Order: sequence, then C-alpha cells, then structure tokens
Amino acid sequence: MKSNVVRMEICPLCGRTYHDIPALSRTENETLICPDCGTRQALASIGVGIEEQDSIIEIIHRSTDNPL
Ligand SMILES: [Zn+2]
Repeated sequence: MKSNVVRMEICPLCGRTYHDIPALSRTENETLICPDCGTRQALASIGVGIEEQDSIIEIIHRSTDNPL
C-alpha cells in the first residue's frame, strides 16, 4: 500500500476538515484552527461583524479558487 501523506486536520471551531496551512487560535494560543476561522477571529478582533466576516471570507475563497 502506498502511504500518501496528506495532512488533514479537523478544525475544533467549525468541525470542518481542511488541508491548508492552519492558523493559530487567538483565544487559546495552542489550538490550530482552519484558515477561515483564523480569518474570522482576526476580523472579530478588529470589530468586524459576522455578516461582514462571511462576505470577506467569500471574497478570499473566490480569489483563491480562481487564481489570476
Ligand atoms: Zn474552522
């Protein structure tokens, strides 16, 4: 059997699996969370509301899914 090492992590915040570079949770400094939750926490820390967080994350996804 071929051992294909794919790093798969489960985000403790949203419960999704992800394989991007994890972000470090700002609330507990040892927890690795998915990039989306990392972005959310960063935005929340500067006072961005949930709805605006959603639209910003959507924009990030749009640009990473379709690289220029
Ligand atoms: Zn997450």
